[in-house]
Amino acid sequence: MLRVVTMDRLMDAAAELLVGACCAGCGAPGRDICRECRQALQRELLHSVPGLAAPVVVSAHYRGVVRSLVLAAKERNDLMLVPVLAERLALAVAALVDIVEPATPLWLVPIPSNPATVVQRGLDFTGSLAATAARQLRAQGRQVAVIRALRQRRRPADQSGLGVSDRFANLRNAYQGRGRPRSGSVIIIDDVVTTGATLSEALRALAVSGHRVMGAAAVAWTPRSRTGGR
Ligand SMILES: [Zn+2]
Repeated sequence: MLRVVTMDRLMDAAAELLVGACCAGCGAPGRDICRECRQALQRELLHSVPGLAAPVVVSAHYRGVVRSLVLAAKERNDLMLVPVLAERLALAVAALVDIVEPATPLWLVPIPSNPATVVQRGLDFTGSLAATAARQLRAQGRQVAVIRALRQRRRPADQSGLGVSDRFANLRNAYQGRGRPRSGSVIIIDDVVTTGATLSEALRALAVSGHRVMGAAAVAWTPRSRTGGR
């Protein structure tokens, strides 16, 4: 029986042979995110994160394909994964705007990364997500841009492994707002929301420096970590 091999499949197989290329979502051979993983991404639902001082919308739970893509982007510095994750972020921003109906223009303020991490990775992941999502939203006709209105005042300890109250304590006064407030509305941008400690500190710092924050948006969140005692 003749086996029909499409050019695409042939290229995927060749790519795997040459460089071990595979889908960052599931590991299937290929040069890109596979169709199944793209479909899984599209099935993810937007969520509103409760319990914070401002409305927060995320595009997915932090699990499965979303988690694999975020980890691959961060650990492998895979810039190719930023646009697809930024699309999810842009959906979350658009949903937030529908809920709050803020004054425009919109200013996306990414949570600042540790400078040392940026140097080590060669990628400011959250900043890149924000910039790419802003471009996508502008292409949809929205007035939106990125401003770096937050900076780290001190470097917090690694949050992983800390309990909820320790995470909040670790981040207290870690950020500082900068730049003069502008007309329009600020949306804080993060990659993954866990306890909400990072967003709470960002909200505090931006409020102190006079920025009008209407909410926050992120790619994903881990709902259990808010109640699971970690
Ligand atoms: Zn896949």
